[in-house]
Amino acid sequence: MAKAPVLTPRADDFPRWYQDLVNKAELADNGPVRGTMVIRPYGYGLWERMQAEMDARIKATGTQNAYFPLLIPQSYFAREADHVEGFAPELAVVTHGGGKELEEPAVVRPTSEMIINDYFSKWVQSYRDLPLKINQWANVVRWELRPRLFLRTTEFLWQEGHTAHASYEEARDFAAHIQRDVYGEFIENVLAMDFVAGRKTVKERFAGAINTLTLESMMGDGKALQMVTSHELGQNFAKAFNTRYLSREGKQELVWQTSWGSTTRMIGALVMTHGDDNGLRVPPRLAQIQVVVLAVKGDEPVLAKVREIGDRLTAAGVRVHVDDRTETPFGRRAVDWELKGVPVRIEVGPRDLENGTAMLARRIPGGKEPVAIDSLVRLLPAILEEDQALLLAQSRERRQARTSDVSTIEEAVEATGAGGWARIPWADLGEEGEARLAEHAVTVRCLVASDGSVPDSQDAPGNVAVVARAY
Ligand code: AMP
Repeated sequence: MAKAPVLTPRADDFPRWYQDLVNKAELADNGPVRGTMVIRPYGYGLWERMQAEMDARIKATGTQNAYFPLLIPQSYFAREADHVEGFAPELAVVTHGGGKELEEPAVVRPTSEMIINDYFSKWVQSYRDLPLKINQWANVVRWELRPRLFLRTTEFLWQEGHTAHASYEEARDFAAHIQRDVYGEFIENVLAMDFVAGRKTVKERFAGAINTLTLESMMGDGKALQMVTSHELGQNFAKAFNTRYLSREGKQELVWQTSWGSTTRMIGALVMTHGDDNGLRVPPRLAQIQVVVLAVKGDEPVLAKVREIGDRLTAAGVRVHVDDRTETPFGRRAVDWELKGVPVRIEVGPRDLENGTAMLARRIPGGKEPVAIDSLVRLLPAILEEDQALLLAQSRERRQARTSDVSTIEEAVEATGAGGWARIPWADLGEEGEARLAEHAVTVRCLVASDGSVPDSQDAPGNVAVVARAY
């Protein structure tokens, strides 16, 4: 009799498979308030690695970390009309504190443009104070109606960058720099995920922005996911908060701003991109455990050997975990590491010891073979890099294979319904076509220029709309 699969197969029910995986790989649980989430240690470890990699890249742009309050006076939200309109339906508002009704309710931040601008307007005096580049790592709350673990939760963790510049061009270029050189570079080289970089249509852009840049990735079922966004805010918030600087010419000028964010959604993206029917597959450069060394049995020489291998690999710069919990059956532990997507397992039993070999199991391409224990330190770095490259190639191939060029709305609906993306000239679609697609739950994920670059405006000639069903 065939063994029952550990996870619902992807082909049977992709959303169920995702739920199963998040649960069985011990990434997260649902929280008690609808839409909230408990991030378990293995899931949080992924976030910590993302944070570390991203934080270094953010700092390299000259941005500094700071922290602003969770609670924002409600009156601030009335200051920027588009922003308030966009966020009103999602706000959580504190009306009581210390047992009394508050004189002014406080909004739990859904994003921090409001409170940060209040302080930017105090900190920025002259052109010498610019550019001002601040990032914060925080939690935010948006009352989501259709929550899904990691992808769309009511409370999520993120970084939000906020900058102020002296000119439109400088702010525009910085927003693009973040999209391409921070987010794009991280997602491609660490998460091993393919994406399309583009600009949002006016309909889809951030509330209060003059332009939203996005990276969109294709998930395992052919749907799209917005990975990150980088916004040009123009002078909208500067006007609302009177954020001005004294220019070199001695004139009071409004600043030009950007904001940009990436969230715990990226963990969900990782699962839906690299996961397979046996579980997650974590790209080696991200993995907090790149290699797990398993003792098959609890004999003393075996335990000593797995610890020795662990030490040697650690010394060689590999992130290793030694699994010597031999009171749990070996098979169960192997399945568990497979579910968690640790790139390489090194399995050592009494018979292997006699031969001076270990079984090397590779999660990413699959397969298992005996190798000499003495060659592990030499082999592993190359194996890990090979696996990293394979994941990126698979993700890229999927998008290329499942994207079609179409010229009518009907064709776009058909192509996206079959689990893929469609590219359609924006001139053939336009805002009216965008609204018609929405009736079929298909959205314009982004606009790209004919040469694949990010266009300067929504209606630039030659713009192509990338359309898809999305998470
Ligand atoms: P925004 O501030 O709306 O541009 O969002 C910043 C980033 O947060 C985007 O990349 C979104 O993909 C992501 N995001 C938005 N809402 C959620 C949510 N409820 N849970 C997780 N990530 C989110």
